[in-house]
Amino acid sequence: MTARIIDGNALAARVRGEIAEQAAQLAAQGVQPCLAVILVGNDPASAVYVRNKVSACEKAGIRSLRFDYPQDVTPGEVMAKLAELNADPAVHGILVQLPLPRQFDEAAVLEAISVAKDVDGFHAENVGRLSQSQEAFLPCTPHGVMKMLESEGVKVEGAEAVVIGRSNIVGKPMAMLLTNAGATVTVCHSKTRDLAFHTRRADIVVAAIGKPRFITGDMLKPGAVVIDVGINRLTEGPDAGKLAGDVDFASASEVAGLITPVPGGVGPMTITMLLANTVISASRAAARKGAA
Ligand code: NDP
Repeated sequence: MTARIIDGNALAARVRGEIAEQAAQLAAQGVQPCLAVILVGNDPASAVYVRNKVSACEKAGIRSLRFDYPQDVTPGEVMAKLAELNADPAVHGILVQLPLPRQFDEAAVLEAISVAKDVDGFHAENVGRLSQSQEAFLPCTPHGVMKMLESEGVKVEGAEAVVIGRSNIVGKPMAMLLTNAGATVTVCHSKTRDLAFHTRRADIVVAAIGKPRFITGDMLKPGAVVIDVGINRLTEGPDAGKLAGDVDFASASEVAGLITPVPGGVGPMTITMLLANTVISASRAAARKGAA
């Protein structure tokens, strides 16, 4: 079997077009959607992510404010900026790029973002709301994966889904979203005894591991839907310097029914859902303004 490829770029472009229309409508009502992004330190990967987010905002008609701090900034200074942004009615979304330097308590920083502006969906209250199937800002990567499954018409209800990875930003919320959508979900991680036993019986596999080409075709059920969240820069071999996912695309695409590539799969959807959350927040602000 040769899998059909899910084109994340095409889906992201379509959804971003809809977001840009909504942003223009809000701007016409006097509420221009606005995302504030905080970057601390000089991690090159973080700088690229922030640049991509800011540029995606601009293209969608979302204003972005960027605040860069040196590696040794005090947590107090960043907390003060967060308090200011929380109180600013012109700011609808606030994002602190992770990871933060060692002097920071990351959880405390995420808690300091207003729940109503937490467009990354990492605040404990939004996570709790998600776990209770209440309306919440959904974390962008797993939300993007759900959008992909929906747009491909994948039946999630009743499916056996295996999520590999249990991080707070991908694995755990992914498992919650799939559970809420009616899948029977197994979460695997580094302590899982027999990973292939689980993946071989999965209708849907989501790999969020951070290990290049780790999931191979022989670990999959024929026809499975394979979503590769991983983004890894290869350091050796003939493809050194290139990006690879957590799935070995060559062997997996021979077995799977549907598969996402890396790059061009989940990645573009992550930023798209960040834009979507920012516009949702701005539309709530517009509704409040209209009601006032
Ligand atoms: P983390 O490092 O936080 O989590 C990795 C998870 O993989 C952990 O739960 C870990 O288990 C598990 N794991 C590690 N080794 C194994 C193994 N041998 N077998 C089974 N499970 C294993 O990573 P993230 O969740 O932040 O990211 C995962 C990947 O997704 C990375 O490549 C990252 O770059 C990418 N990513 C991509 C995004 C996108 O937009 N496409 C967005 C965010 C991340 P344990 O908990 O036991 O340590």
